Amino acid sequence: METHYMGYELIEKIQLKELKIQDLIQSHYERIEETEPLIHSFTNISKDGALKKAKQLDDKIKTAKSIGKLHGLPIAVKDCICVKNSPTTCASRILEGYHPPFNATVVERLVEHQDAICIGRTNMDEFAMGSSTENSCYGPSKNPWDLERVPGGSSGGSGTALAAGQTVLALGSDTGGSVRSPAAYCGVVGLKPTYGRVSRYGLVSYANSLEQIGPMAKCVRDCALLLEIMAGKDELDSTTMNTPVDDYSEELEQSIKGKILGVPKEFFGEGVDRQVRESVMKSIEVLKQLDAKTVEVSFSHLEYTIPTYYLIAMSEASSNLARFDGLRFGKMTENLEGDVFDVFSRTRGEKFGPEVRRRIMLGSYALSAGYYDMFYIKALKVRTLIKNDFQEAFKKCDAIACPTMPTTAFKLGELLDDPLQMYLMDVLTCPVNLAGLPALSLPCGFDTNALPIGFQLIGNYFDERTILNIGYQLEQELDIYRKTPPLTGGNIK
Ligand code: GLN
Repeated sequence: METHYMGYELIEKIQLKELKIQDLIQSHYERIEETEPLIHSFTNISKDGALKKAKQLDDKIKTAKSIGKLHGLPIAVKDCICVKNSPTTCASRILEGYHPPFNATVVERLVEHQDAICIGRTNMDEFAMGSSTENSCYGPSKNPWDLERVPGGSSGGSGTALAAGQTVLALGSDTGGSVRSPAAYCGVVGLKPTYGRVSRYGLVSYANSLEQIGPMAKCVRDCALLLEIMAGKDELDSTTMNTPVDDYSEELEQSIKGKILGVPKEFFGEGVDRQVRESVMKSIEVLKQLDAKTVEVSFSHLEYTIPTYYLIAMSEASSNLARFDGLRFGKMTENLEGDVFDVFSRTRGEKFGPEVRRRIMLGSYALSAGYYDMFYIKALKVRTLIKNDFQEAFKKCDAIACPTMPTTAFKLGELLDDPLQMYLMDVLTCPVNLAGLPALSLPCGFDTNALPIGFQLIGNYFDERTILNIGYQLEQELDIYRKTPPLTGGNIK
């Protein structure tokens, strides 16, 4: 069978007994075999276990027993989210051979409780540090719309797997844009939930005050379904909130008449590509035809978001990654000469890649005595100003509409030697993480190179339903979400 159906369509086919889950899973593995050499979405695939579970589910259906809401749909899980007894490496040499003895809460809910099938682990920037998936110890993933270009990052493998029809559902994590960037560059849908909406238990921490695990899919409806299942209080993560989980899928069809969209001009300014700007503006017009209104909102601290985000993210990373010393966590160096500190530093020097080392060093510096107030504390103060900008904006509007990324996908290698330029790619995504707000990215058009453009909708705290509702209405009007990439360009084998 072809593998470009939406998840909700497949669920219907399974319920009508038109499709066996074993055939569904088998056809996705065939698609993986065919396309993986071109795009490299996965760090690891788990075919035997997946087919076994598919058979169990088919048997269960035969005996008229009900199965979980996700009906055996394949899900690709980013390699920093723990799956019991499956290699979880964060695309880092230091975690080679690590098999967590437990599931992340999201995996427990989606796979164990609601019967999604984990088909493999997706490629990413090492420890989620990057915007292009080029910082993976396994090598980069490639954009299915043009194989010479990056898929975005850090959840790049989840984006490419969806776009190429290797999976139906996927998970990413978003610390500063890592779900939304690959969604935008690969032409799929991704949502970063409100901080505290989804459990982080079992997510290997990069910068824990900023990140959330987010659902990724080929359409807004599938994303809404995933979020419904993932969201909610978890006793294993004290930062999750008791706020009730809405019926996101139910509310997608609602009219958006009278909804007020805030348009922050700063998000359309310098550095934002003309074609991206025009495409997003056109989509805003489409929403206006559906009787949404617009209002200008201002975001005066946008220029400070990159230094603020990177200071906080690197500071937290330097502390979170201290546990990987080869003794408590991580694979120890072979060379055991010297004392314990020699072995620790040799392990970390050998096993972490250059971007991770850079961030640990910069983060440690920002937290060190004498510099702490000047860098880290100052960044926390600016973080409050950024939050205030959003709070002011949400007094006037229901959601904020803007581009997800300032450009479409750039070429592999183009920004690798220029970390600052790479960091600047996050300028429109990381404000959301600093404030802890939810945001959705969905495709809204293509540039003249036929590369997808991402539309970002930012919501108020715990108001995922509004951005999903508006996003769904836009998706239906634009009707481009079924377009599939050519898997050409670059050095095709
Ligand atoms: N590109 C950003 C970073 O490198 C965001 C990554 C993420 O969201 N995990 O930190």
